Amino acid sequence: MKAVMNTGINWSSIEKEAADILVRYLQINTTNPPGNETAGAVFLKSLLEREGIACEVIESKPGRGSVITGLKASGSTADVLLLHHIDVVPAETDKWLHPPFSGAVIDGDIWGRGAVDCKSLGVMELMTMALLKRQGFEPEKKLIYAATADEEIGGAWGVQWLLKHHPGKLRTRYIINEGVGMGFSNSNGTMYLCQVAEKAACWTRITFRGRPGHASVPHDDNCVVHMARAVQALADHGFPVKITAPVEKFLRGFAGMQQFMPEKECLGLLDPVRCEAVLERIAEPALRRIIAALVKNTAVPTLIAAGSKTNVIPGECYCEVDCRILPGEMPEGFKITLAKILDAHGCGDYTIEMSGSIASESPCDTDFYRVLEQSFIRHDPTARMLPYMSPGATDSRFFRQLGIPCYGVQMEPSLDAIDRIHGHNERTSIKQLTFGIKVLYDALKTFCFDNRA
Ligand SMILES: [Zn+2]
Repeated sequence: MKAVMNTGINWSSIEKEAADILVRYLQINTTNPPGNETAGAVFLKSLLEREGIACEVIESKPGRGSVITGLKASGSTADVLLLHHIDVVPAETDKWLHPPFSGAVIDGDIWGRGAVDCKSLGVMELMTMALLKRQGFEPEKKLIYAATADEEIGGAWGVQWLLKHHPGKLRTRYIINEGVGMGFSNSNGTMYLCQVAEKAACWTRITFRGRPGHASVPHDDNCVVHMARAVQALADHGFPVKITAPVEKFLRGFAGMQQFMPEKECLGLLDPVRCEAVLERIAEPALRRIIAALVKNTAVPTLIAAGSKTNVIPGECYCEVDCRILPGEMPEGFKITLAKILDAHGCGDYTIEMSGSIASESPCDTDFYRVLEQSFIRHDPTARMLPYMSPGATDSRFFRQLGIPCYGVQMEPSLDAIDRIHGHNERTSIKQLTFGIKVLYDALKTFCFDNRA
């Protein structure tokens, strides 16, 4: 049997080093808005340069920096781009047990906004570059490390801007990025997810128009009432189940690993007619919610704006709806679906504006996917890496549009990590941080530097 990681690496000292870097990275407040990612980028740059890895901080506008390592042979294509975003979402400080920018270390966990999403991945990737360099490989010739701005608000000042202004610096065959996933462990093994696809985010504004007037004289063309009906109709609507290719692969693997019911019965999830009934039997609410979101389009009202004064019926108001659509569907088609729902509920005069892209997908029969899968198994013999489609969007979509396969990893196989992402009390375990470094280091050493048959 092949020896595992016979590299002479002192993993307990790497663990301490990585934990210390993550603590310091979390202490840099990169809440977006405003972002202030340059502070994070400068911090990462100093660590890379200490290893002798050349890199630069590039700002899309003041304060909005990204850091990218440079290929020595300019214009060449890297094997793998190690990507993560520097910015984090806002934190409601008073609701956290430990302050979100403290980097507090408690019982083997590191706390802070970004601990999972996704500064820990940034540290795993950075340590992978550093370890390869220390081992005498030259990672900068095969790999790009990129930590970018603005992912949480759509990437306009991060990946999207970089691809427009510096496309040559991001040329690569494959990408490792965040996975926005989950995982679990039971006696069948440990499920790790590799994000190979994501639903399209189509942000939508519906504007309602009615007859303005004095509220002391009611009439039946009040746009606020039309909007209320629409919000209720969208919340109540049962979008049909549709099983797409990436979700089918995930559900087949999931059926074999879960213990809520016999595998054969769980495969009923693949049947659009039986799917809802089988979902009800998954006793874990987080899993049930996520799987439900993977097999349907969704339209969730999140913002309403109406009126200016109690005694004035406004002539116009609007609501915003977060729509997530499945691979194979177009925003235009989903707009028609929404209009049909509103018309069926008498929502008056309205217009729908929808901005968004289409869902993106990467193949999972590539050489790099297999190397990654093997690396998980080498470091956790119980591991099963399943391909997964995330309901949420990441920067991977920009690269997938260019035909570059992206694999989103989640090193922490827990079900509640997904609730801590963007929620309160975000934290990650030092053990999983080290596990992630081992998996990535091993996969990239194998893929980029070992002679492969
Ligand atoms: Zn993220």
